Amino acid sequence: MGSPVLHTDIAIIGGGIAGLWTLNQLRNQGFNAVLFEQQALGSAQTIASQGMIHGGIKYALSGAWSGSSEAISAMPGIWRSCLRGEGKVDLRACKVLSENFYLWSHTGLTSRVSSFFASKMLRGRVHKLKRADYPEPLRSPQFKGQAYRLVDLVLDVPSLVQALAGQHSDAVFSIDWATSSLQVEDGQAVLHTPAGELRPRQLLLTAGTGNERLIQAMGADQPAMQRRPLQQVLVKHDYQEPFYSHCMGGSAAPRLTISSHRSASGQPVWYLGGDLATEGADAPPQELITKARQELDELLPWIDFGECQWQTLRLDRAEPRQSALLRPDSAFIGEVNNVDNALVAWPTKLSLAPNLADEIDAALAQRGIAPGPCTDLSELQELGRPGMAQPCWDTLFS
Ligand SMILES: Cc1cc2nc3c(=O)[nH]c(=O)nc-3n(C[C@H](O)[C@H](O)[C@H](O)COP(=O)(O)OP(=O)(O)OC[C@H]3O[C@@H](n4cnc5c(N)ncnc54)[C@H](O)[C@@H]3O)c2cc1C
Repeated sequence: MGSPVLHTDIAIIGGGIAGLWTLNQLRNQGFNAVLFEQQALGSAQTIASQGMIHGGIKYALSGAWSGSSEAISAMPGIWRSCLRGEGKVDLRACKVLSENFYLWSHTGLTSRVSSFFASKMLRGRVHKLKRADYPEPLRSPQFKGQAYRLVDLVLDVPSLVQALAGQHSDAVFSIDWATSSLQVEDGQAVLHTPAGELRPRQLLLTAGTGNERLIQAMGADQPAMQRRPLQQVLVKHDYQEPFYSHCMGGSAAPRLTISSHRSASGQPVWYLGGDLATEGADAPPQELITKARQELDELLPWIDFGECQWQTLRLDRAEPRQSALLRPDSAFIGEVNNVDNALVAWPTKLSLAPNLADEIDAALAQRGIAPGPCTDLSELQELGRPGMAQPCWDTLFS
């Protein structure tokens, strides 16, 4: 007997934030949707992210408040409604690490930046703080800079992945490409697995950097992908106060972005990004760690971190190819050339996952794809279920 032929509205490949959010949003609308993950859910960029749900203000600093910045500026509000259980996706089980995100400079911000923050355009999005309201790590008489609070919030990403995966776990499957393949038959993508041949009305590729190979596997080359590498620094220490902030230096991009986490044993870990991570993407880890130490010594000399352990994490961010490796400011979806039922998606930011899922909704509506009748996909259970990715503050320290 040949392998069974299975039908579904939507098949999603890749279980990071893009795939998981989209799975939730589509199934909540009544679509028959399934997701396939080759490793653990949340692997790669999502679990490595700093969890900041930001409204694009750091981009606005570099120049115009563009149309796409407007799209991103809606994101903190949309996430907050999901966290209250009032959005298209239910995030009530996700932990919020901080409702506050700060922006500060160790000397004064330039007058250009200060007047930009005071402008009408940013009213309600940025609050200049009085000293009494400074976050604990900046409450030192030695701190001579300025501090602002942004509308952004910070999420605990492992709990975010868990919250999204938990609600539709029956629709999430492992995939092993040694025994499965993606093929194109009469212009339609078909997924061959040991459990059967899955014919989705729409295939969505949300595999981050993995999208490139999946596109190639279908004999296509569009949309093209680019990688933007970075190397984050982690420091495990004894200082107990959390800190979620961008430190601005001379350029429009943050000099240092800090988020705070706890290892499984409860010890504080600061996770450092910003210019440190992008400019140090290809540096030898020890060199970058030395630079990170110098940054903390120079920017926060009054903090005693106690005994520190250091690590770095290098990885690529995946995005649609752009000229001069510029950062795209909004979620991207694109058609795969010569495959009628395949779309590729890169959110480009964790924050933009809701924007991505809405773009997918619009593309489905444009293609006339509405929720179809329920089909029996129980055969897929033999593929097994993927586990959950572990955060680097748990895996990197011995
Ligand atoms: C260090 C770092 C910090 C960041 N911090 C932030 C932040 O604070 N705020 C923010 O908004 N954004 C942040 N970002 C960006 C954000 O993390 C990413 O834009 C987002 O997570 C991308 O999600 P994704 O689902 O597209 O891809 P990924 O998270 O990379 O997920 C892809 C998934 O697909 C799976 N996969 C890959 N290939 C295949 C295949 N062939 N078959 C099946 N499955 C496959 C992978 O195992 C993985 O689970 C950060 C990025 C990095 C790298």
